[in-house]
Amino acid sequence: MSKVRVRFAPSPTGPLHLGGVRTALYDYLFAKNQGGEFVLRIEDTDTARYVEGAEDYIMEALEWCGIIPDESPKHGGKFAPYRQSERRDIYDKHLAEILKTDYAYLAFDTPEELDEIRKEYEENGEVFAYNYITRNRLKNSLTLSKDEVERLLAENVPYVVRFKMPIDRILNLEDIIRGKSSVNTNTLDDKVLVKNDGMPTYHFANIIDDHEMEITHVIRGEEWLPSLGLHYLLYEAMGWERPQFAHLSLILKPEGKGKLSKRDGDKFGFPVFPLNFRDPQTGVVSKGYREEGYLPEAFINMVALLGWSPANDREILSLEEMTKEFDLHKVHKAGARFSKEKAEWFNHEYLKLTSDQEALVLFKKVEDINLSHLDDDQLLKIISLMKERATFIKDIYTDGKFFFEAPSSYDEKAVKKAWNEQTSSLMNDFAEALHGTEIFEAENLRHIIHDFAETRGLGMGKVMMPLRLALVGELKGPDVPDILQVLGKEESVGRIKNAVNNIS
Ligand code: GLU
Repeated sequence: MSKVRVRFAPSPTGPLHLGGVRTALYDYLFAKNQGGEFVLRIEDTDTARYVEGAEDYIMEALEWCGIIPDESPKHGGKFAPYRQSERRDIYDKHLAEILKTDYAYLAFDTPEELDEIRKEYEENGEVFAYNYITRNRLKNSLTLSKDEVERLLAENVPYVVRFKMPIDRILNLEDIIRGKSSVNTNTLDDKVLVKNDGMPTYHFANIIDDHEMEITHVIRGEEWLPSLGLHYLLYEAMGWERPQFAHLSLILKPEGKGKLSKRDGDKFGFPVFPLNFRDPQTGVVSKGYREEGYLPEAFINMVALLGWSPANDREILSLEEMTKEFDLHKVHKAGARFSKEKAEWFNHEYLKLTSDQEALVLFKKVEDINLSHLDDDQLLKIISLMKERATFIKDIYTDGKFFFEAPSSYDEKAVKKAWNEQTSSLMNDFAEALHGTEIFEAENLRHIIHDFAETRGLGMGKVMMPLRLALVGELKGPDVPDILQVLGKEESVGRIKNAVNNIS
């Protein structure tokens, strides 16, 4: 059997969304699982829909996800170029071939003429299709005489090339995920293969490139399923062996109904793109998972499980583990519901798996926080205290603000609960006791609090609670001795005195 080769073939018409990332990931996982190659091909023949920066975005997004192509416009490869706009001569060669067969014809109808006909159909409550019936009444090389066609060509009258859909044939189609289905060719129209500027359309360029690039498996979104019949026939027309196909189901909105759309992100408050994307036309920035603080490993793990279940219901898998286990036959036929909570859960789990040292590197990259007054040992201690509870690395800062700044106010409810008339003098005494402490370490500090409470005949809580309030400003956070250790003697004593002055 020939080596497995799978391609991801996005059009640079905007940023890659979640569905696109999942397609790329499954393409990659399948290729690598089979010991094959993963190819990135940019399908940019539709110049009208081209968006500046989209190609770079796609490459950067794949790189961030760790889905690295073996061949691409950037990496090169033996089937270069990998940008369709640079492959025109290849398409021209195959156009000449298909025009020699009975599968293609020239159509001279102008867009205005077709619009006119479309309107007439609409007025009669019908939908116009350029197909095996209507083509016999339209302006094309099937209805015009040979001389007339030659005259039009000599006069440079614009034309498109259309596929001549065979009549009355039942096509038996096969899909690795969905199994067998059939389609009657009479329900399919005569798609344009080459536009009047000489550029091939998606259908033609796509099958030519899949053939030329020796692609063995086409794994793509289910929106291409209606084109499968045409693609089968194009392979037949060209006399080529066709690849195997697998069409992935939709990613659904959180409520489970309808396709997750690009606008849903703003509506539901989660990103639908891997990276931030700034629309070059409007300047509007759409949010990305990277900038929201997701770890790439968590992100792709989440994406992989939108439509595929690994054995034993395992959920946390590295890219390597996914590659070992991936099986197209186990990809779900039904749509996969997106869940923001689940996405966050994945990030939380991955953050827990991150070592404190790795987390420190990430933490230092969080924007808009000033850590200059803390050394790495202090930061590592804070990270080890806060990481378990954090969803995002930045939560260590937001939930642990008190480590970085002294409280500027005290939570009213907490004050009522933790502070009474005697507390101020109690805290003053405790500040004294702390002042005289040589070993400022959590274990020792715990003993000090314990002894301090015991000599006064108080429960530990009676000391811990106001102490926590003084240090944090509210009754939350990790163990008080740990907080004391991180803050250090001077800062802790200062905060207690502040509380005494401000609360009393
Ligand atoms: N260029 C197509 C897209 O962006 C590729 C479809 C396919 O994989 O065949 O969806």
